[in-house]
Amino acid sequence: MNKQGKLFVISGSSGVGKGTLIKSFLEKNPQVKLSVSFTTRTPRPGEQDGVNYFFTTKKDFETAIKNGEFLEWAQFSENYYGTKASYVEKTLNKGENLILEIETQGALQVMKKFPQAEFIFILPPSLEDLEKRLRGRGTETEKAIQKRLAVVKQEFETSKLFTHRIINDNIETALKELQKIFDGYQNV
Ligand code: 5GP
Repeated sequence: MNKQGKLFVISGSSGVGKGTLIKSFLEKNPQVKLSVSFTTRTPRPGEQDGVNYFFTTKKDFETAIKNGEFLEWAQFSENYYGTKASYVEKTLNKGENLILEIETQGALQVMKKFPQAEFIFILPPSLEDLEKRLRGRGTETEKAIQKRLAVVKQEFETSKLFTHRIINDNIETALKELQKIFDGYQNV
């Protein structure tokens, strides 16, 4: 029988650099899979359906919620985001390790339904730093940035519930910490 894969849930404030961190990690660990979420938000330039997200309609997303298809889902910045339970199950049953990169409301749902996962929270060195990064990205309106920052303050509190916390003030150091967490589960 195949050994079950391990599920890693990675959360952090949007703009904290977790996307870059996970991308670098996956380049070094190509055997680890990254889950592709469903979302109702519109694609950003360069994003591809089925690669970055499965871009879907509000109506289809709500039907999937009703049918209980999501392991977790959340409303974030006026859009839905969610992870299909069947995909997670299939991947873990194949013995593959899987990363979910999701926001905290979703991570809290996974904690309840799948507590054997590892929960990693990526923190910015400071709120000021995060604000700078969000503005630097240039993809959000001022109102959206203010809303995200308010959410982040709350997330600092929530991060205490996670099994691991990484402060991303230096990508190389953060990457090493993430690698150490994964390596701890390779030989079990
Ligand atoms: P973005 O719109 O910038 O791609 O993502 C916004 C937020 O949604 C990020 O914090 C990202 O981690 C989160 N997110 C992406 N996919 C999912 C998902 O399937 N479930 C949940 N709960 N959050 C997600």
